[in-house]
Amino acid sequence: MGELARDSGLHARHSRRRMMAMLSLEQRRAHNRERNTRWRAKHVERKREQANRWYAANKAQAKASTARWQQANPEKVNAKAARWRALHPGASSRWSQVNPEKAAAKSQRWRDAHPERAKEIARKSCEKNRDNIRARQNKRRADNIDAARAADRVSKRRRYERCPEVILANRKRWRDANLERLKPIEAASRLRNAVGQKALYKKWASANQDKRRAHEMARRARKHAAFVEKVNPVVVFDRDRGMCGICREPVDRNEKWHIDHVVPLSKGGQHSYANVQLSHATCNCKKHDKFVAA
Ligand SMILES: [Zn+2]
Repeated sequence: MGELARDSGLHARHSRRRMMAMLSLEQRRAHNRERNTRWRAKHVERKREQANRWYAANKAQAKASTARWQQANPEKVNAKAARWRALHPGASSRWSQVNPEKAAAKSQRWRDAHPERAKEIARKSCEKNRDNIRARQNKRRADNIDAARAADRVSKRRRYERCPEVILANRKRWRDANLERLKPIEAASRLRNAVGQKALYKKWASANQDKRRAHEMARRARKHAAFVEKVNPVVVFDRDRGMCGICREPVDRNEKWHIDHVVPLSKGGQHSYANVQLSHATCNCKKHDKFVAA
């Protein structure tokens, strides 16, 4: 049996050499390739073991060689990855879920390498998810409303500091365009903040002496133009029997009270007994604001 096997082996080798001699170089190469393939297919396990042994013994070299090959063949690497992904749907996103930091770093690397495409993709995705994004932003803002408002104030302040003229001009333009709408709103707010407003005015006046003086001069001038006679407040109080001319309720002599011009000086009213009445300070302020608003 052994004899026979060796014989047939000898015979095979011999006839192979004869056959090869008759082939062209190309044909011989093809033949060898085919033979190798056949051998590998028959000895898959052995080949794999051999490869593993070599790999274990030459890890660094193997890795370097793989890296070189990958660098030289990016399309092949991509194609291989694509094949693998097609065979394992969902694996990539599962991996991302398990390794969020690595996934984020990988995305970042890609974005760094493709800034234009990354920008384009981000823009498209924003466009597609505009409603979702806005809803999420609104929710986040509502959840942290105090922090959001503080941040708004800071950024507003910063914008203003960067170019105050532009901001002021914008504000004035808007105000001029919405004057009618603003009047009642501002009057109501003045009324609400009467006390604070006074303190603010005091502070403003002491910082802006010139403007304050101009205001007072204008008011004095109006009063002067309207002047008919000197009006003694106590006389008016007694004449009106301590009743507020605006709300018709009694006025406490020891509280704050005003002498109100029935027709305001600014509307051409006169400074005379005929055009004044006793009033609560608050009633007078309310009326003033109504006139400003009207
Ligand atoms: Zn009153």
